[in-house]
Amino acid sequence: MQTRIGQGYDVHAIAEGLPMWLGGVQIPSATGFVAHSDGDVAIHALCDALLGAAALGDIGLHFPDNSDEWKGADSKMLLAKVVEMLSERGWKVGNADITIALQAPKLRPHIDKMRATLAPILGVGEDAVSVKATTAEKLGFVGRGEGCEAWAVVTINKD
Ligand code: MG
Repeated sequence: MQTRIGQGYDVHAIAEGLPMWLGGVQIPSATGFVAHSDGDVAIHALCDALLGAAALGDIGLHFPDNSDEWKGADSKMLLAKVVEMLSERGWKVGNADITIALQAPKLRPHIDKMRATLAPILGVGEDAVSVKATTAEKLGFVGRGEGCEAWAVVTINKD
């Protein structure tokens, strides 16, 4: 069996009155993410990690943010397309580990729902999907509530 590792990173600015989607789940919040798609930074980082593991470029290459096709796109659909791209090449997801840095609101109550949402799209059990959240201790742009960052690491396997 071949195994590969991929990592991904994404950031989006925060603004008042926009929806906040993270890990495929809508988070109740007065603020949300400025984005061409739904702005789900966690899924975007995850997509880049998967594409990176298979050396298939990045999310901007496959889903350009100047394309009307992806305007307001549900990132879960982008993730499903990435998983399909890997599957066409014989790759299956092993596990995923995501870290989200957001000052507010607290994400802990939503973490298990994110794992339950992402696992079936990735074709793995929930025990293979980790989502972790941290604040930035009020430091930098994340700490000032100006943006949200996410990092993802994945393994993919081929028989
Ligand atoms: Mg993004």
